[in-house]
Amino acid sequence: MGIHTATVKPWSLQEACNAFAAKNVPAITLWRDAVEPVGLEAARKMVDDAGLRVTSLCRGGFFPAADISGQQKAIDENKQIVDEAAALRAPAVVLVCGALPTLSLEESRKQIQDGIAAVLPHAQAAGVKLSIEPLHPIYAADRSAVNTMAQARRMCEQLNDTGKNDVGIALDVYHVWFDDALESEIMQSGEKGWLHAFHICDWKAQQSDPLQDRGLMGEGVIDIKRIRNWMDAANYQGDIEVEVFSTRHWARDQHEYLEDILLAYDNCM
Ligand code: ZN
Repeated sequence: MGIHTATVKPWSLQEACNAFAAKNVPAITLWRDAVEPVGLEAARKMVDDAGLRVTSLCRGGFFPAADISGQQKAIDENKQIVDEAAALRAPAVVLVCGALPTLSLEESRKQIQDGIAAVLPHAQAAGVKLSIEPLHPIYAADRSAVNTMAQARRMCEQLNDTGKNDVGIALDVYHVWFDDALESEIMQSGEKGWLHAFHICDWKAQQSDPLQDRGLMGEGVIDIKRIRNWMDAANYQGDIEVEVFSTRHWARDQHEYLEDILLAYDNCM
């Protein structure tokens, strides 16, 4: 079990580490904006001192660009994010792959695949895996042109050498819960060892904002238990990470909210 720093965004990294440790939360998913104010070395020490495991660093990606120099800039930045992950002892970087409204989805996808391929040797040398997070199609215009598990799996097929899992998938229930191929895709990726991460939250039927009005588990329509059973059947061994972007919950006392997160987690398992 792990919790994303973005889930408790009002807290500093130190506050999050202290609170997670006090509640025996075993793992933390680091967002770069939580690490940035303290720096890599201090961040790693905070996490270590709290006895927390780091699941991954969020996030890299955003590969598509209007021209070659923009594409190269994205590749360079992603290499730097890989270095940050290595310094934080994060085993993986989660990729929100990007999309440009001015490019076709096919062109964005091509640039994403080329970008990951260009970063991959650097990531392999650093011992950091790259985890493609398919995003709900509502974000296809400007946040990610990878919108289904099948698209992510096909990229893994193209990018990994035979038998390798250096490029895999971060499955977020918010983005894929409606996919009628979800069970089969989980099984296929699980067989290859490509299920890198499992993010949970909930999809509220009525949402006031497409980015920051996610539900806590149980507040929406997603059958998380069912998806969790599929992940188990696919031999997913990693942490189940609570990732909720919610201005509604961020406005609350975060200690009370953490109690609710832990209760909601237990209820959906
Ligand atoms: Zn996610």
